[in-house]
Amino acid sequence: MSNAEWADRGNQVFIGTYNRFPAAMVRGSGCRLWDADGKEYLDFLAGIAVCSLGHCHPRVTEAICRQASSLVHVSNLFHTQPQIELAELLVAHSFADRVFMANSGAEVNEAAIKLARIHSGEGKYEIISLEGSFHGRTLATVAATGQPKFHQGFEPLPQGFVHAPFGDPQAIEQLITPQTCAILCEPLQGESGVRPLEKDYLLAIRDLCDRHGLLLIFDEVQTGLGRTGTLFAHEQLGVTPDIMTLAKALGNGLPIGAMLTTQKIAASLVVGTHASTFGGNPVAAAAAVEVMKVMLADGFLESVREKSRYFVKKLEGVAARYPQLANGVRGRGLLLGLVLTEKGVEQGGAIVQHLFEQGVLINFAGNRVLRFVPPLVVSTEEIDMLIEKLCQVLDRFA
Ligand SMILES: *Cc1c(COP(=O)(O)O)cnc(C)c1O
Repeated sequence: MSNAEWADRGNQVFIGTYNRFPAAMVRGSGCRLWDADGKEYLDFLAGIAVCSLGHCHPRVTEAICRQASSLVHVSNLFHTQPQIELAELLVAHSFADRVFMANSGAEVNEAAIKLARIHSGEGKYEIISLEGSFHGRTLATVAATGQPKFHQGFEPLPQGFVHAPFGDPQAIEQLITPQTCAILCEPLQGESGVRPLEKDYLLAIRDLCDRHGLLLIFDEVQTGLGRTGTLFAHEQLGVTPDIMTLAKALGNGLPIGAMLTTQKIAASLVVGTHASTFGGNPVAAAAAVEVMKVMLADGFLESVREKSRYFVKKLEGVAARYPQLANGVRGRGLLLGLVLTEKGVEQGGAIVQHLFEQGVLINFAGNRVLRFVPPLVVSTEEIDMLIEKLCQVLDRFA
């Protein structure tokens, strides 16, 4: 079966929510993917910042196979070893002392919204998030998402969500009312164009929470687990949240998410208040345990920071070489964006399409930047290869 045949079959049966590349992927290894026509791709998307250890990392695959041959699912009516080991690792390496597990980013953000409301008590339900944010596609997380395009057609949305303009702590303060219970933000906005929140801004947000008795929720679904060069992005910003959500990279491709918080706040979610049938599934949790162990090993996060410095320098070179198309580089760690000019933005989709044809996978984020989120195990040679192909494609548009 060829790419075209697979695409044809898929198009007959799927609801059309996705604009897919015309390729059916059949195999992956490290930073490489192969499609049904046998074409090889250099993958700087990593399943949208999910496969951080690369495709089919041998240790993760081994953990999945081992767990799948002993126990796949029992529900949360029982304890299981992988789930406990994962929670212990998360607690040992974060500010948190308690963990709740679910299956995706949206689900753990839902859990965080519920926790913030129940912990804050009656009448305090409102959550302030930021314009340009992305928190998921369920109704509550869509309501929290500060981008109108995700709201359209789905109104009325759940109540209790307001959005503050990006970058202005005073604008947030003006939105605080007696009903406010929390401020929710990503330490770096991924989907809307790799926009980092500056340290001073985050410190001001933390200060607002402290002065007004609000919970600070960090959505680290995309930034978490080594992506920005530290295990969690907030570690390098000197700001600690009260609640943090993780998902994308946690299972290196298996669906798992975790909400982390302190013992004091966690105490508000008692038996029966929240649950997930699949949450912390043994196979997904076993994969996540292995992901954590690989990332916590000596030198791993340092190597991410080193490769980030290398990649940033190369991308700055690209921006300098094509000033009519690109005018800057932003992001942290290996979550990087080449910021396009007005002229570049017009070509953003076409640039991504040409790179795809050349066997390189990236995406165009927030209608503003070319986004690069390679597996964290990417080599400098692979970064060089990406840069070479990128320049070849940009030459056509310059
Ligand atoms: C991807 C993402 C989500 C949603 O995660 P899903 O697993 O798709 O539900 C939420 N928040 C952020 C910051 C994300 O990048």
